[in-house]
Amino acid sequence: MPLFDAEKLKENALTSIRLGIEDFQRSQIPLDQGGDPERALSAIRNLFAGVLLLFKYKIATTVDDPKDAATLIFNPPEVLPQADGHGGVEWQPVGNFKKTTIDVTTIKKRFNSFGIEMDWETIEKLQECRNHLEHLHPANTLGEVADFVAELFPILRDFVHSEMNEQPAELLGPAWPIMLKHHTFFMDTTKECEDAWTDAGVPELMQPWLEKCQCEACGSSLIRPDIDDLDDGLQVDEDDTTFRYLCVGCGYRDLIVPLMIKNLNDEFDYDPRDGGEPSVETCDECEHDTFVIHEQKCLWCETELDYKECNFCGESLGQDDQENGGLCGYHHYLHEKVMKDD
Ligand SMILES: [Zn+2]
Ligand SMILES: [Zn+2]
Ligand SMILES: [Zn+2]
Repeated sequence: MPLFDAEKLKENALTSIRLGIEDFQRSQIPLDQGGDPERALSAIRNLFAGVLLLFKYKIATTVDDPKDAATLIFNPPEVLPQADGHGGVEWQPVGNFKKTTIDVTTIKKRFNSFGIEMDWETIEKLQECRNHLEHLHPANTLGEVADFVAELFPILRDFVHSEMNEQPAELLGPAWPIMLKHHTFFMDTTKECEDAWTDAGVPELMQPWLEKCQCEACGSSLIRPDIDDLDDGLQVDEDDTTFRYLCVGCGYRDLIVPLMIKNLNDEFDYDPRDGGEPSVETCDECEHDTFVIHEQKCLWCETELDYKECNFCGESLGQDDQENGGLCGYHHYLHEKVMKDD
């Protein structure tokens, strides 16, 4: 069993979070003002690693004996089947505990077994974000990093408070006020952006896809309708080829509608090699790529099909079948044939 010291784990966790916040601060200041945008990635790496270390510390301190603690933190030996010599099988651990410590998936299992609560949906989202940022240029991630820190904040605050029974401000030291201030700014700005969009004429069913939009230059979710476009009386539903968003994070502006539609289509992405079929197509009415085939409805103009299923066999119908007067292609063909033969 590798040597193990829970207090050391806590110390490392706090160091990692402190470094992460320092990196974050430096990353948000432009290069010509003494900042260093390149630090965005190390900010995320340090913060995420720090939080996982805190989680492991919590797991380790749920038991009294350090030996037991080590069995919870290090990866256990593999359990393999072996013949029991009487025609049966026995499952036994092979080898020793590994030198590596448990990953997010296993931390989640340990939390579940010890009744420790966690918002795993957000943790998994943050993990995905970290993995995704590894592949991008730091300049294109500054907004997303700011989102990351803001979303991490409530997790860390609640965890330190409820699971570690400590005051976040004391435990996290100088990192705390920086995170708090950033989180407050982020929440206020999110609210302002949401409010601004309510007057911008976004089709109602497209609203969830607007909420997923991120600035194409920096990845920030803090985007609002462009002020000039609003002042000119433009509306998203009427001026879909001109209406722009404005990124509060970096000032970039671009068209909002293609971004919303891209989010919708990405969500319904399919791979023909897996036997998948497209699930979003161009709407015959409004010509946006927003017709969701299985819902038989356009999310942009809310057009629904007149004929939803074949009168004869009940098969669900698409836009192409509408001219068949309520029959599927096959039954329409049969019907035509019968009429001709008469
Ligand atoms: Zn931006
Ligand atoms: Zn439509
Ligand atoms: Zn039919």
